[in-house]
Amino acid sequence: MKPKIAFFDFASCEGCQLALLNCEDILLDLLELVDLVEFREAISETSAHYDIAFIEGSIHREEDSKRLLDIRSRSGYLVALGACACNGNVQARSNFISPAENYKLIYGEAARDRVQVDKNYWPLWAHTRVRSVEEIVKVDYYLRGCPMDATEFLTLVKALLTHQIPHFPENAVCVECKRNANECVFDKGMSCLGPIAYGGCDAVCVNNGHVCDACRGLLPYANVEAHNELMLSKGISKEAIKSRYRLFCSAEKMSQT
Ligand code: SF4
Ligand code: SF4
Ligand code: SF4
Repeated sequence: MKPKIAFFDFASCEGCQLALLNCEDILLDLLELVDLVEFREAISETSAHYDIAFIEGSIHREEDSKRLLDIRSRSGYLVALGACACNGNVQARSNFISPAENYKLIYGEAARDRVQVDKNYWPLWAHTRVRSVEEIVKVDYYLRGCPMDATEFLTLVKALLTHQIPHFPENAVCVECKRNANECVFDKGMSCLGPIAYGGCDAVCVNNGHVCDACRGLLPYANVEAHNELMLSKGISKEAIKSRYRLFCSAEKMSQT
């Protein structure tokens, strides 16, 4: 029997699943080796057990937590797929403001007033804190980035199918950036989260003239304090730094700085 793999989406744009669907060559190879038993984007089948469950999206509601716990209990390996699942992503910024303020920011003052009157609708917005997958269940592997990287996806699946331990280097984005001989954006008057962010993306943003905003999350050994000092020394305000830290990683410790 082929191993069963499944994909589940929570609060996300479904871009990681789409990124995978766009890699038809990878998917066709993969389907030779596994049974795809759940994948809402592509098929309607379901299953009672999964050898590998991929979880896309962050966790918002109590019913999402229960669903995730149920998936975990029926899965061999559980993989967090993309920044929403790994580190909360942009939607977790709402953790730092009240639901009412959040609603006002999105829909404006008039919509907020209307919702305050509608007592049946309001509880939908009085949500709990946005959480990453690992805050609810044990995560075996992480496929980082927004979206996740299809090559890393294939590396992980191949390793698990051949009973090997997949290895993803834990280096900062700066390591890859330097390897690519990029001029550091700090020397060009810009700022960057590369020193504290998980690499593995080949510093793609800096390669293409942008800065790194740490979509792949915070390195476990990152010296956030020193990075904070560096940003302050460049004249960036505390508020602006906090906002940058919270962009992709609001479910992580870095955002508490
Ligand atoms: S990580 Fe990015 S691409 Fe993937 S589901 Fe979340 S928002 Fe979409
Ligand atoms: S541009 Fe960013 S990623 Fe590259 S070396 Fe500088 S701080 Fe590091
Ligand atoms: S350079 Fe930074 S923001 Fe860009 S993909 Fe890599 S980790 Fe994400």
